[in-house]
Amino acid sequence: MESHELFDPDRNPRSLDCRPVLSRPRADVKVTPLGGIDGEFCPQDRALIFEDANGTRILYDPGRTVAGATDPRLGKIDIVLVSHMHGDHAGNAHNKAPNSGTCEQPDMSVSAIPNTNAANIAIGKKSKIVTGSEMPPFFAAKLKANGGNPADSMLARFGGSVTVGGVKIATVQALHSNGLDPDYIGGDLGKAMKEAGIWGDVGLATGYVLTFSNGLVAYLSGDTGIHTEMKTVVNEYHRASLAVFNGGLSAGTNASVAQGLNELVKPASVLWTHPNEAVTEGGKLRPGTRVAALAKMVKAPIHFALSGRTMEFDGKGKCVAGC
Ligand SMILES: [Zn+2]
Repeated sequence: MESHELFDPDRNPRSLDCRPVLSRPRADVKVTPLGGIDGEFCPQDRALIFEDANGTRILYDPGRTVAGATDPRLGKIDIVLVSHMHGDHAGNAHNKAPNSGTCEQPDMSVSAIPNTNAANIAIGKKSKIVTGSEMPPFFAAKLKANGGNPADSMLARFGGSVTVGGVKIATVQALHSNGLDPDYIGGDLGKAMKEAGIWGDVGLATGYVLTFSNGLVAYLSGDTGIHTEMKTVVNEYHRASLAVFNGGLSAGTNASVAQGLNELVKPASVLWTHPNEAVTEGGKLRPGTRVAALAKMVKAPIHFALSGRTMEFDGKGKCVAGC
């Protein structure tokens, strides 16, 4: 059906004129970063909103750049995901308002201890909070203590999955640590743990695999070094086509990151997050950044998570708008 291609807006922008469009209706997944400064990609940026074509909205790792549950950029949030308990992911503190502070020196003046920014947002938005490993009982306790419904904290166990709002959520291993800061425990126990230098055990750190209603399978790496399950579980079993990759130093060297993406995950596209460096200035890539070097080493296109800019991914992991 060669003639069909003439009318596919993916391939031929001229089909946007008034001739009939014969291709299927679009059902792309929208991804909007909620970073520190609008239009930039800053060291503390982690938070992403995924919006399925069916309207389900998922907030991933709110961290410190989402200004609590009342951040006007959030809108409706159905599901909160937290890859692991470190303060830059669960959110031990956050900005007073979007865009406060600078890209290099973000405002992190509002404490979210002992709840976490993630739990406060889930309570404020009446969302489910879906985590793996042994994190669900922690979040259930925080929901209960703050007027939320503990049953809204749901487990996606390694090897299994839960489906919420039409999106299938599975957890996968992340090769990282996952200690719970005793400040979240508080009281005499928290004080004693702190003095002893022991953090609480909430199980292994995780990543996620999300399967959206348009067929897109997205791998959210969490903080991780490379590991064999990137090949066996993420690529060969789940067949993820979009890799949302945490690029801070916890990911390892440039060589190991490139090897992990090129030889193990093998995605169609990479969405770079957690940069731990000011990647852009004026919305443009700064030369000399780590991600600029990696973009030359990684086979798949690397897209940058500019705060507030919505990107759209088709069912095969290709960015079709906003990148
Ligand atoms: Zn981190």
